[in-house]
Amino acid sequence: MLDRYGRDIRYLRISVTDRCNYRCRYCMPGDGVALCSHQDILSFEEITAIADAAVSLGITKIRLTGGEPLVRRGITDLCRMLKAIPNLSELSMTTNGSLLSDKAKELKAAGLDRLNISLDTLDPGKFQQITRVGTLSDVFAGIDAAEAAGFLRTKLNVVLIGGFNDDEILDFVALTEKRSLSVRFIELMPIGVCQSWPKERFVSTDALLKAVPALVPERTDGVATEYRVPGFAGTVGLISPLSHAFCDRCNRIRLTADGRLKPCLHAKDEIFLRGLSGDALLETMQKAIYCKPAAHRMDALHPSSAGRNMFEIGG
Ligand code: SAM
Ligand code: SF4
Repeated sequence: MLDRYGRDIRYLRISVTDRCNYRCRYCMPGDGVALCSHQDILSFEEITAIADAAVSLGITKIRLTGGEPLVRRGITDLCRMLKAIPNLSELSMTTNGSLLSDKAKELKAAGLDRLNISLDTLDPGKFQQITRVGTLSDVFAGIDAAEAAGFLRTKLNVVLIGGFNDDEILDFVALTEKRSLSVRFIELMPIGVCQSWPKERFVSTDALLKAVPALVPERTDGVATEYRVPGFAGTVGLISPLSHAFCDRCNRIRLTADGRLKPCLHAKDEIFLRGLSGDALLETMQKAIYCKPAAHRMDALHPSSAGRNMFEIGG
């Protein structure tokens, strides 16, 4: 459906949990987090009912995220339930990949169409440093398992962090030489724990283009601009919410694990959907979508107005 600015809203991102087995420094505080209690988290039936209503309003793509979606018990059952919704054209997931080696096959069998795997460094020591607890080889095992299970067009999400991984840009681009992966560099957003980080941490994707002059623009894919080094099997996507805000073409809405619809990632507005059904659910969602804000006002010096951490919203 169209919002009041004429954007066609087709993409729903569902956070299935605020729990995570990692503690990435830009996403989660290190000293413990207040998590939702189990009864506050939507059941699979509630998620499916909201997704079903969203599809009837024009949503065609759903992405599962979190927290870490693969720590939610029974996640493959949820994939199966969502995949059964008529007129849903794509079901995908964003994951840190650490648990994928065991789960890739069953996720594929349950109908999951595509995966985005987050990976901010190719160095095992730096990986442990940024995730606080993670092991890089687990993620590579997950990427291989995804490929073996038949997942195509897998994307690797790299959050660009000045002074941390901006020296690895060429190594990430080199990954696309032989593998038909899309490596997607995302500008670090000042939200939650990292909103007080020094501005040097916030690197523009323009700096990346300068560092890799061989990249040739290919197409726009949603909020990403896709580039390729001529002759390479894979592509490099740039997602630039700060330097080149894409609000005018944003077609996304989000559902938090505790049942709140967020028309914009970077706005405080949340509409509680739990307990609604039938026409009341549809009308509430319709109103929320229609009122999606025009744009965010975030930049490296002005933090997001989300009022929540990324692990609570799902990114
Ligand atoms: N746990 C899963 C994962 O890491 O892929 C899914 C949830 S995570 C919140 C979704 C995405 O948001 C990840 O790619 C993560 O790197 C990204 N993210 C988290 N905090 C961010 C921030 N401050 N700026 C930009 N991206 C961020
Ligand atoms: Fe967990 Fe993903 Fe946040 Fe890292 S980015 S702490 S993996 S939710």
